[in-house]
Amino acid sequence: MVKANRILIVGAGPAGLSMARALSGNGLDIQVFERASRESLASPPDDGREIALTHRSERLLRELGHWERLQAEEIGPLREALVLDGNARDGLRFQMPGGPGDVDPLGWLVPNAALRRVAFHALADRSDVTVHTDAVVTDMATDGQGASLALADGRRVQGDLLLAADTRFSSARRACGIAADHHDFAKVMLVGRVRHDEPHRGTAWEWFRYGQTLALLPLHDPHTASVVITVAPAEALALQALSPESLGEALCHRFDQRLGAMTPLGPLHAYPLVGVYPRRLVSERVALIGDAAVGMHPVTAHGYNFGLLGVATLSELLKDAQRRGRPIHDPRLLADYGRRHRRATRPLYLATRLVAGLYTDDRLPARALRKAGVAVATRLPGFASAVVKGLRDDDRGASARWPMTRQLIGGLLSNLSRG
Ligand SMILES: Cc1cc2nc3c(=O)[nH]c(=O)nc-3n(C[C@H](O)[C@H](O)[C@H](O)COP(=O)(O)OP(=O)(O)OC[C@H]3O[C@@H](n4cnc5c(N)ncnc54)[C@H](O)[C@@H]3O)c2cc1C
Repeated sequence: MVKANRILIVGAGPAGLSMARALSGNGLDIQVFERASRESLASPPDDGREIALTHRSERLLRELGHWERLQAEEIGPLREALVLDGNARDGLRFQMPGGPGDVDPLGWLVPNAALRRVAFHALADRSDVTVHTDAVVTDMATDGQGASLALADGRRVQGDLLLAADTRFSSARRACGIAADHHDFAKVMLVGRVRHDEPHRGTAWEWFRYGQTLALLPLHDPHTASVVITVAPAEALALQALSPESLGEALCHRFDQRLGAMTPLGPLHAYPLVGVYPRRLVSERVALIGDAAVGMHPVTAHGYNFGLLGVATLSELLKDAQRRGRPIHDPRLLADYGRRHRRATRPLYLATRLVAGLYTDDRLPARALRKAGVAVATRLPGFASAVVKGLRDDDRGASARWPMTRQLIGGLLSNLSRG
């Protein structure tokens, strides 16, 4: 019997698991290695992240069989996005053509823990996928003959192709000799759920207040939202140390009581903001996927959206090679993926770096530039509806004519930006 081509995936985060599901059913032998336990993959703990998903990602998640596994209350439709500057009570609004009542939302918010859970359970009936848990990968190597990895328990595993999906600080990437540029924003993003008195009406807020950037992400329940606060590390620690009562008061004050009283529903989770982009996305018998390929600042809410895009691009190329009986580690195939994914992600990665700097800069010129930007965009006829159309059409039709603008503005403003 001919041995099936074996793919080794390091990391069972949402990207690694989605890739395993996308490749399954094509005569491949797919082995996933994850340091966490089986229990934590089956019921991942809440990590505070609410993931904004585009229409394209929703389609991909349906194709993977993930979407229908989500519970109704885990999907929060985003009906409107509002960008506020300083103490203004109104600002730039993005809505679907039918207003906030349009049947189609701008996008959706889904907890990261739920996305991880469904990605794991979607593999339950896949006999060609093995997920090794409590499996810490300590070393990896690839050469002309194959790919191999070493596990902390002493085992060595051989394969034909290695896919690194082991976070933005990927050790697989490093072990395979791929350097990456890191950009430390020197800020911390705090995220957590709150209950609030006034309904959010499906509106996401991005609010550039002086000395802090706030965002509010509407969840399924009209009185529950995720708050996102970007501050200096010391201030983040001080907020995390508050009692639930004091935190509720502090949040209510920061959000200017616009949604009434706020009650935290759990702790604030802290994420130091570091953007990472590798010098190459592929090497001999290796490809980077998920955050290991593109470590976005969350301001444009594109990390997992890009992760899914990379899964779709690479899995199609691999399945095509497999169908034609061509080697799945063909350097031209890998280079093609690297080129395409870089082209799709690099401009927004760079633009996000620039804009994230501007949005967290409270010196006068930056403030003025932001204010002017929001004012111009608010008055520009047809601007908001063009952005919304771009978001809805996503990778199809009109928006494809101005992809960079769509990605940047759509990602930044409408698709739930966080500063
Ligand atoms: C606050 C915040 C908000 C965000 N909001 C959005 C959003 O709105 N929209 C969006 O699209 N994206 C968003 N993102 C980004 C999104 O969360 C990430 O892009 C996504 O979770 C990355 O998935 P991944 O599978 O690549 O990596 P991870 O989720 O980091 O998973 C990597 C896995 O690899 C495992 N691993 C690592 N090293 C090893 C090893 N040596 N051996 C074995 N296993 C290993 C880890 O245990 C982990 O399970 C946000 C991120 C943050 C921080």
